[in-house]
Amino acid sequence: MPLFLPHFNIQKFNTLAVPAVANYFVSVQNDEELREALAFARTEKLPLLILGGGSNIVLRADFPGLVIHIKTRGLDVVAENDEYVWLKVAAGENWHQLVEYTLDNGYYGLENLSLIPGSVGAAPIQNIGAYGVELKDVFAELAALDIQSGLTVMFTNESCQFGYRESIFKQTLKDLYVITSVTLKLNKTPALNLQYPALRSALKEIPAGDISPEQVSAAVIAIRQSKLPDPQQVPNVGSFFKNPVVPVGQFESLKLRFPHLVSYPVDDSHMKLAAGWLIDQAGWRGKEVDGVRVHPDQALVLTNPGKREGKLILQLADRVIASVEELFGVTLEMEPRVYP
Ligand SMILES: Cc1cc2nc3c(=O)[nH]c(=O)nc-3n(C[C@H](O)[C@H](O)[C@H](O)COP(=O)(O)OP(=O)(O)OC[C@H]3O[C@@H](n4cnc5c(N)ncnc54)[C@H](O)[C@@H]3O)c2cc1C
Repeated sequence: MPLFLPHFNIQKFNTLAVPAVANYFVSVQNDEELREALAFARTEKLPLLILGGGSNIVLRADFPGLVIHIKTRGLDVVAENDEYVWLKVAAGENWHQLVEYTLDNGYYGLENLSLIPGSVGAAPIQNIGAYGVELKDVFAELAALDIQSGLTVMFTNESCQFGYRESIFKQTLKDLYVITSVTLKLNKTPALNLQYPALRSALKEIPAGDISPEQVSAAVIAIRQSKLPDPQQVPNVGSFFKNPVVPVGQFESLKLRFPHLVSYPVDDSHMKLAAGWLIDQAGWRGKEVDGVRVHPDQALVLTNPGKREGKLILQLADRVIASVEELFGVTLEMEPRVYP
């Protein structure tokens, strides 16, 4: 039976370093302990927070339930052929350590996703993405426990309904499953994705044919370290807002009013706007309110240098959303999940 810790401080378990207490906290090392933890929550009628690295949550207040910290371990090659390897990874493994493991073993496809904080089990929740690659590009399937029945259910790439920072686990199946493992389909020969301009420019000194996956990973790490604050030094959850996707008509009228609008095409009828640019134009870059700050180097990131309460972070987020709405008529959506 895993150890249920009552009245547990979870400040060290969220990368915004928000001070908050959970009614109960439990670390689970395997699926059996996870089942026991879920049974405890059912018996005690406790709300659940399934926690990985805590790098994509905002704690608005104390959590009046059970926090289950997923600490399961394991990586297994479950199939391979001449071209691909299928790697099954336990949900509690660290994402970036997985990226390093794959590079060390000659399995390719994760290099653009280097240095994203958090656990493997959380990666499908918002279909993590960076530098032109998303989890869905390498995803084969996942196993999840149905919280009500305790049964294991498999999800294919299609059934996860991945989108931009989206999956079925944030929509119709929200809070119904705990992901226990993720299986990735990785290349045995490098198939680099260098479409992202900042990445191409970081590697421009190397002839295209000579670039290795390790160099791509190193370049991604260097770019990320130059732009994003390290949560260990300055508490944050990375991008606080999603880049809004708007219809082309709305984009065109905004572009007339704001010729420098930063945008990327999504499909024939939609454009993605750079939320950081919108926030910057609304005058928020570098501003600090109640110990919570809009990051001076990247306005998409809110930091919590004062380790203040979650409600203060959310108050600043609301003010940023209101300013952007007023100036551009665009509603920003938050990326991290708010609890409780
Ligand atoms: C500096 C920084 C940079 C970042 N850069 C990026 C980036 O480039 N791209 C990107 O996509 N994200 C980025 N993020 C966000 C974050 O790293 C990812 O969303 C990551 O996948 C969160 O993992 P986690 O284990 O910390 O999740 P947590 O914060 O612990 O949980 C996030 C959500 O997933 C749920 N969850 C976690 N594990 C499971 C599970 N096993 N089963 C079911 N539900 C689960 C939680 O209940 C919660 O709702 C960044 C964050 C930081 C701090």
